[in-house]
Amino acid sequence: MKNNELNERRLQATPRGIGVMCDFYADRAENATLWDVEGREVIDFAAGIAVLNTGHRHPKIIAAIEKQLQSFTHTAYQIVPYESYVRLAERINERVPINGPVKTAFFSTGAEAVENAVKIARAYTKRPGLITFGGAFHGRTFMTMALTGKVAPYKIGFGPFPGSVYHAQYPNALHGVSTADTLQSLERIFKADIAPDQVAAVILEPVQGEGGFNVAPGEFMHALRALCDTHGILLIADEVQTGFARTGKLFAMEHYSVQPDLITMAKSLAGGMPLSAVSGRADIMDAPAPGGLGGTYAGNPLAVAAAHAVLDVIDDEKLCARATVLGQHLVEALNSAKANCPHIADIRAQGSMVAVEFNEPSSGQPSPEFTRQVQSKALAQGLLLLSCGVYGNVIRFLYPLTIPDAQFRKALEIITHSLTR
Ligand code: PMP
Repeated sequence: MKNNELNERRLQATPRGIGVMCDFYADRAENATLWDVEGREVIDFAAGIAVLNTGHRHPKIIAAIEKQLQSFTHTAYQIVPYESYVRLAERINERVPINGPVKTAFFSTGAEAVENAVKIARAYTKRPGLITFGGAFHGRTFMTMALTGKVAPYKIGFGPFPGSVYHAQYPNALHGVSTADTLQSLERIFKADIAPDQVAAVILEPVQGEGGFNVAPGEFMHALRALCDTHGILLIADEVQTGFARTGKLFAMEHYSVQPDLITMAKSLAGGMPLSAVSGRADIMDAPAPGGLGGTYAGNPLAVAAAHAVLDVIDDEKLCARATVLGQHLVEALNSAKANCPHIADIRAQGSMVAVEFNEPSSGQPSPEFTRQVQSKALAQGLLLLSCGVYGNVIRFLYPLTIPDAQFRKALEIITHSLTR
């Protein structure tokens, strides 16, 4: 099979709305390496958009899925339940950074987890309002599109969206938004749009993912928690992209001194199988009536088996510590490249959630062009990089945390070349 032929067939058979980044097609993959159908090899720093913290086809994850295949692949948990689901909930309940009794429900996609967190928050508080942030990304369903704080390409032509959703500013030092500005934007929402006692939840990504790997400052998270407590509003952390060792902790909220009420997770939870979850304070999680939550495929047995193996691998291979170390090496390499790359406007990181933002040196304006150049230079040398950011001027690095040291060093060389030559 040839990539060119496949591209032609793709354009005929599938809609353009499913935008596809690469013009080559996957054939096979192993840990941090991916081969296309023409036998070309790339180092995969996209990792299926943050899904493969444990790499492609980790032997322990494959073995767990194969074992589950031998017993059953689907019963619909709400019809005939299975122990592995309950045990995974128990394991996650022990690990989420929320004190006191915690419960967990499983779904399939990140958007579905966010949808359900909203359902649970509304059922518990009996309030309609939701506050989210500019630059946020929460998914492609209607409620999650409404919550998302980036118009193009996610919202164009798809409205109207569910109401009672208000966007505050997310702190961003580079773009001149301080924590004080953010808190002021929240106060403005309470004055102009909705009374705080009508707000069910504030939902935020502790590190904005699609929005540019913007790390929430500790003082901001602290102030948000206090605001929520004052008004009886729930705090929902969307850890779909930050979860499962990426930031150097199992959950990014472990970096903060305050706790959320609910956490959504997906992506690296099941190492490539579709599984998502909502965890939260037991009293909140129990608000919806029986039958209100679930889904035919929610908590699929193969995906649940994979998630157990993911948790084992994260512990056995100390991937949280590894995320911290790899992230430091990458930040050092980016800092060294800075002297020869005037386009670099910012380098930011929480563990291995590392990003570099590019501006035009002359104007200081965001440079999506330079970002694309870096991506294509890296790809020409065999490294697949993803961009992000409201202006498309950020490169984010999402390598498997299981990547061998030598391959990681090679990738750093390619990054340095792509930035400086
Ligand atoms: N929330 C966050 C923070 C995400 O990064 C994403 C996906 N990029 C989603 C939700 C949506 O997840 P999914 O694509 O699995 O629906």
